[in-house]
Amino acid sequence: MNLHRHPDLDPSSSDAVEFSLRPQRLAEYIGQVKVKARLDIALQAAQRRGEVLDHVLLFGPPGLGKTTLAHVLANEMGAPCKVIQAPALEKKGDLAAILTNLEEGEFLFIDEIHRLSAPIEEMLYSAMEDRKLDILIGQGPSAQTLKVDLRPFTLVGATTRAGLISKPLHDRFGMVHRLEFYTREELGIIAARSADLLNVHMAPEGAGAIARRSRGTPRICNRLLRRCRDYAEVKGDGTITAESADACLKLHEVDDLGLDGLDRMYLEALCGKHRGGPVGLRTLAAALGEDEGALEDLVEPYLMQVGFLDRTPQGRKATDHAYAYLGLKGSSNPGPLFQ
Ligand code: ADP
Repeated sequence: MNLHRHPDLDPSSSDAVEFSLRPQRLAEYIGQVKVKARLDIALQAAQRRGEVLDHVLLFGPPGLGKTTLAHVLANEMGAPCKVIQAPALEKKGDLAAILTNLEEGEFLFIDEIHRLSAPIEEMLYSAMEDRKLDILIGQGPSAQTLKVDLRPFTLVGATTRAGLISKPLHDRFGMVHRLEFYTREELGIIAARSADLLNVHMAPEGAGAIARRSRGTPRICNRLLRRCRDYAEVKGDGTITAESADACLKLHEVDDLGLDGLDRMYLEALCGKHRGGPVGLRTLAAALGEDEGALEDLVEPYLMQVGFLDRTPQGRKATDHAYAYLGLKGSSNPGPLFQ
């Protein structure tokens, strides 16, 4: 992806340290209260009946905890979890090999499930519905279809683009959950938990300063925490305070709302060049030299969350808050800003 973004604010890539910070059980998974409550019931019901958990589709912007939640569900069911990226499934045989090798009760997590090719997606339908696979053996007139029974399994699909999931695939998931951006309070708890795991001293105000700039996203929260740890160790006594976190994030040009240069460029293009819109995504992407998909996944959701952007059928529109943020004249009273 062509994204001119501060690397710590890019929630689309993960690393090894992050892996060690992942909550393992539902009780450790912060926030997403409604989703957790629904899943908790489904888990308990499946356990009581001695059945596998229904297939689950999770959607929401990157870094909100979809992969983590898939592992948590598997852990709660006492089952292993295999992870696969949809684009890695190139041939039907790739999927057939994975499905036929799943243990009873095993979880299969398919990330970016909207990117499955049509033949592979179709193959999933009968696997999800009837636990059966039709495998074509041989070629030409002598080709034969072999029906293979699969062991009971749970598919967890994740996508950042709910709109790109086909209806037949969507309908085969027993549960569909949207993950929401996290509140500052929840991010403060996540920062404090991660600081404990990394053996970092942090004042509660330090956690607050990081949470405020984490764009509602745990992955970014954990990244900023690590930058602030470096800063506190080099410039101070190792304790992350509000002051050291502020100074560190200022150095990285992450502002008080967690916006960086790319967000500002986006808003400036929208409010300045295009007079607040409505303007099409393609036009904005061309003006910024960015990939449309990257803007849609990694920039726009948070700008909408903080109330700077509206997506309308006519195109993208800036709100009065966006003008106020840029210090431009747009409206006399934009009202209270995002909390
Ligand atoms: P996604 O799959 O949606 O891109 P991940 O599941 O990889 O996101 O989450 C990114 C990181 O954020 C995880 O490694 C984990 O450390 C942290 N994280 C995500 N969700 C939570 C949560 N609910 N509570 C605590 N930490 C979380």
